[in-house]
Amino acid sequence: MKQRAIVIGGGLGGMAAALTLSPYYEVHLFEKNDWLGGKMQAIQLGAHHFDYGPNTLTMPRYFWETIAPFCDAQKELPFKKLQNPTHHKWAQYELTFTTNREKMQQQLAVIDEKSAQNYPAFLAEVTRLFQISEQAFLTKTFFSAKDYVSPTLAYRLLQAHPWKTLDAFLKSFFPHPAVRQLFGRFATYIGSSPYASPATFALIAYFELVDGTYYLRGGATMIAHVFEKLLKRQHVHLHLQESIEKIAIDDQRIVFCETTKQRYGADIVISDVDYAKMQQLLGRDEVTYELSTSAYVELIALKEPVSLHYHNVQFSSDYPAEFQALRLGTLPNEATVYSCYPFAADQQKKPALFVLINAPATTTIDLTLAKNQVERALKIWGIEETQIIGRHVIPPDYVAQTFNVAQGAIYGQASNTLRGSFLRPANRDRQLKNLYFVGGTVHPGGGSPIVVKGGYEVANRIILENSNCIKN
Ligand SMILES: Cc1cc2nc3c(=O)[nH]c(=O)nc-3n(C[C@H](O)[C@H](O)[C@H](O)COP(=O)(O)OP(=O)(O)OC[C@H]3O[C@@H](n4cnc5c(N)ncnc54)[C@H](O)[C@@H]3O)c2cc1C
Repeated sequence: MKQRAIVIGGGLGGMAAALTLSPYYEVHLFEKNDWLGGKMQAIQLGAHHFDYGPNTLTMPRYFWETIAPFCDAQKELPFKKLQNPTHHKWAQYELTFTTNREKMQQQLAVIDEKSAQNYPAFLAEVTRLFQISEQAFLTKTFFSAKDYVSPTLAYRLLQAHPWKTLDAFLKSFFPHPAVRQLFGRFATYIGSSPYASPATFALIAYFELVDGTYYLRGGATMIAHVFEKLLKRQHVHLHLQESIEKIAIDDQRIVFCETTKQRYGADIVISDVDYAKMQQLLGRDEVTYELSTSAYVELIALKEPVSLHYHNVQFSSDYPAEFQALRLGTLPNEATVYSCYPFAADQQKKPALFVLINAPATTTIDLTLAKNQVERALKIWGIEETQIIGRHVIPPDYVAQTFNVAQGAIYGQASNTLRGSFLRPANRDRQLKNLYFVGGTVHPGGGSPIVVKGGYEVANRIILENSNCIKN
């Protein structure tokens, strides 16, 4: 008989781990909601389809690598590269991202000649940062203290500008504040601030500006559908709407997990639950770390197509003030507004807008202020009230309630300190020998490709370390 692995949480991290373990374990995956994908959630408003959660898709190879043992990966997930993915607007300027270096330089030169000249050096440096981080962090799992004391890791970390903030790093290339705002926004991809997070996260620029930004016909949630199909094909036991409520421990091991319906014995347990909430479930002290941001979202159904790019950013006029407000737990008076308009590349579905502003991780925000920010951006983008036929507001509280997340902080601990960036919760529990952690709130961090990569790597290490007791 195969050993039994219990996976708690059917987000991308849990699904990636469950799929990778499936040839070797009898896998049971428990999800409190009635869908798989977690924050990657399809929402339908009448005939209009929306993807909540991930809309910016990067690094297809991390998804392909995880599903490749079970299917023809590129056929199942046919990512297509967007040529001009993200259009940015300020009061005085506009700029559209492209992986074409010359075209980026031409656009940067309109804002600032020096920034345009330094762009190739910036690209070379973010490529180097990505390569260091991929070797030292993204492909590594952290199971015990031993994993942290490797001299190679320390050496690589020192090469990755850990002491500089992202903004200070950007200043060394770009004298113009608008250009720093453009690239500093990458810190928000991990729910953090460009004025506090380490420069290492400039590596996110590699994803979009070197490797590219992608889309999938049918939307980002196609990823969750493909994982679900493969889990079923691999005979993973999927327990939807079945939340793990209790955990029983004996001799430093989890012996069973209990849901509202039943008890399930476990040989190993992999938690994809928000790390702070999992500690609560284990009956431990409350976790105290600075929380990453949450999000205020509006889903807007449009009557007819509009003139927008796939991704659109309307920048605020005072970026430092925006992050100061967020770190103080309030919404800024003027926020940067992001919107995703999949119709720009994929006309299969009705035209619809996913609009997001970063919000503090607190269950109460000023909803009127948030709505006003969205209104302002819609006006600038030329979208009239008469073009809107449906609207659904999703406050940060939704993240907290729906996905069982402490204060709705999407990425758990903020990456605004060295500790939050490089010493995220490890992938194996310190006390319980058969408990492992995956997902965006633990190492290596959040964002859909990184979460999938983390789930895949953790599962592979479990397989390797337990090869004695695993039966094929
Ligand atoms: C609004 C928003 C926009 C985003 N935009 C992007 C983007 O553009 N690009 C990108 O790459 N990433 C984006 N992300 C981040 C990305 O969605 C996450 O990093 C990733 O999906 C997290 O996956 P996960 O498996 O860690 O967690 P989750 O998706 O939260 O999965 C955890 C699952 O565990 C379940 N669960 C919790 N407790 C229990 C329990 N006790 N028993 C059973 N089940 C339980 C939850 O219901 C949930 O389904 C965005 C996220 C949000 C919210």
